[in-house]
Amino acid sequence: MECNYCNSSNNSIIYEWTRLEKNNILRCNNCGLVFKEISDSKKDIELFYKKKYRKIETLPVQTPEEHYNDKVSKKDANDRIRFITENIDLNGKKILEIGSASGCLMEKLHDAGAEVEGIELNDEYRNFSKKLGFEVFQKPIEDSNLVELYDVIISFHTVEHFINPKSAFESIYTALRSEGNFIGEVPNQNDWRIKIFNDEITKRFHYDPNHYYYFSPTVLKNYFETCGFNKIKLETVERYNSIFQLKNILCNTYSKMNIEDILEKHIIPKNETDDVRLPHVDDQIEMEFNRLFEKSVNSELLGNCLRFIAFK
Ligand SMILES: [Zn+2]
Repeated sequence: MECNYCNSSNNSIIYEWTRLEKNNILRCNNCGLVFKEISDSKKDIELFYKKKYRKIETLPVQTPEEHYNDKVSKKDANDRIRFITENIDLNGKKILEIGSASGCLMEKLHDAGAEVEGIELNDEYRNFSKKLGFEVFQKPIEDSNLVELYDVIISFHTVEHFINPKSAFESIYTALRSEGNFIGEVPNQNDWRIKIFNDEITKRFHYDPNHYYYFSPTVLKNYFETCGFNKIKLETVERYNSIFQLKNILCNTYSKMNIEDILEKHIIPKNETDDVRLPHVDDQIEMEFNRLFEKSVNSELLGNCLRFIAFK
């Protein structure tokens, strides 16, 4: 399989699992891009996102209403609007959100004074968010022929699902007006859990069958520069509960348990105590530790997720 960034076919298998499925994860020996070996066609993958993606059992199965009301979606939307408005004045701006899901973030962008449109491939999620009053397209950006229409394009945790990121980034660049911004977040391939510990549970959780590309800060910056962006700002954030994860890795808590059981429990939490995604907001010491930890790992761009602003 050819590297999407540099076209080299010289790559090595670095892992053979994506959560509960057997799949090869490859690393390009020329540029360092990490990607999943894919045999499905672009058409098959699009159909999967339109009809099946939100219903597969290796993800929390959620209706659009459940996603819209989920506490993780709400926390994500609040964090994201804070990050966006700290960096960009949204008043009067025309914005496109790629991967707009149930519309939680579109509503917040609208409330901040922007004119908002979305792209969401999934039929049910798209219909739900259209009922909130937004124009939501169903075509991937690279097939949409959008030229200099938007001041800001936003994409949180969608870029890793793109089949051809290079072509998508080029289309995003073209769809932006001059001095427009592309802003969003991807899982970080330099995540401290992978970069420092690289233990079995971390790898099984990190490599996800629906993520086709894994970007390190350097690889992501190279992509954006190649597509024409002239300045790139990067930072990392911790999306989940850092102290919980660190404690489990350091104490080797999982060593005697069945790996599949742990993955199932944490990917699809059945009750509050199994839900390890969010920090406990009532625990002051935990909150303070997580805040300091996030700041420290960000200084080396080693956080869970990589946030970017690319300037046209
Ligand atoms: Zn490459």
